[in-house]
Amino acid sequence: MQLELLSVGTELLLGEILDTNAAYLAEKLSELGINVYHKTTVGDNAERLAAALRISLARADVVLATGGLGPTEDDITAAAVAQVTGADLVEDEAAADTIRSFARQRGLRQFDSLLKQARVPKGAQVVPNPVGTAPGFILASGSNTVIALPGVPAEMKAMAEQTVLPYLERLCAPDGRAIILSRVLRLGGIGESQTEAEIADLIRAQTNPTIAPLAREYEAHLRITARAPDRAAADKLIAPIEAEIRRRLGDHLYGADEETLEAVVGKMLREARLTLAAAESCTGGLIGHRLTNVPGSSDYFAGSLVTYSNEAKTALLNVPEETIRRHGAVSADTARAMAEGAREAYGSDIAVSSTGIAGPSGGTAAKPVGLVYTAIAGLGDAIAEEHRLRGNREMVKGRAAQAALYLLYRALRSRKAVGVAK
Ligand code: AMP
Ligand code: MG
Repeated sequence: MQLELLSVGTELLLGEILDTNAAYLAEKLSELGINVYHKTTVGDNAERLAAALRISLARADVVLATGGLGPTEDDITAAAVAQVTGADLVEDEAAADTIRSFARQRGLRQFDSLLKQARVPKGAQVVPNPVGTAPGFILASGSNTVIALPGVPAEMKAMAEQTVLPYLERLCAPDGRAIILSRVLRLGGIGESQTEAEIADLIRAQTNPTIAPLAREYEAHLRITARAPDRAAADKLIAPIEAEIRRRLGDHLYGADEETLEAVVGKMLREARLTLAAAESCTGGLIGHRLTNVPGSSDYFAGSLVTYSNEAKTALLNVPEETIRRHGAVSADTARAMAEGAREAYGSDIAVSSTGIAGPSGGTAAKPVGLVYTAIAGLGDAIAEEHRLRGNREMVKGRAAQAALYLLYRALRSRKAVGVAK
């Protein structure tokens, strides 16, 4: 089966926004083993959109379009699909009801333009939108299928995951085509090149599954990808390779697939019934931000004090002035005192901290830009770690937050290993 992506929106052609929809869909489709040979971007123009649709339909079995399903005049994707396939636009009752109740909830009087979104090509299967008002649709036309989804990335993703990707998976399953299954192993405290070096022989010998080291924003991933007739067979191909990688790199391996570092430490804290607080200097709240990205984190996360100035460190965290004077605000001693202070301030079991020089100015020969200390208190003696982080200011901040979370992860893991009592 061949599929083409069609991104609709003049803003994409003006370079105002990046086509993250196509990037997301292309990745998901490759995981399903669906071939994507072309991707087209077209503006909100009826003629050119219709022409692009015709060209794609002539080449591919399925055209998957995003954008142009909104309530405004320039949202013309449904009309263009109707025109090209010869279908009429009709109001879908369920979609119209959803829009009416949405409008009632918001107290909207005028919502004719919203109702326009409920008009889909006749005979199309409506794709429900769980997070917005514009439904999408799947329309069979001759031997082709046209799928249209809204442009708003969160809506597009929810609808792809809930309806469209499972639909496509079913569509390409009957002819016995191979599926492609990936497993992503997530690593901490090790870079992409070192990861690669540890498993160079495995990478050289790879055929099916393949192994690809990936440099992600603040960490390295390893993607194992297998091609097989079905999921179970793909799992079977992946398992021995994964076991060998775990044997070699297990120390660095904190999670797999969608498990983020903050989700993993959250789970460990919840299972151990431990509470956490943070004291942040150079990360400016990023540690708290990442921890609170995990739903339900209030079960174990008390809060984070962003203490950027020396005075705040002393006033809010009881970091002794003497410690800052003698060792500096960016030092192992200050980091430890910050973690202990946060633990005290929040009455939590554990606390982590960060203090460092994010740059671009403020560095010295002894304390260069990128020098960061992270610390943890509450699991035995307070421990501080020194890091020399690369990158611009934003990257140093992000990497410092990552380092603090990874320190927390290792502390929780070793606590589990040696069975330290709370
Ligand atoms: P639309 O459905 O065309 O009204 O798009 C709604 C909003 O979704 C646009 O204003 C963009 O911000 C966003 N959007 C549309 N298409 C894309 C795309 N291909 N990638 C990322 N964002 C998009
Ligand atoms: Mg648009």
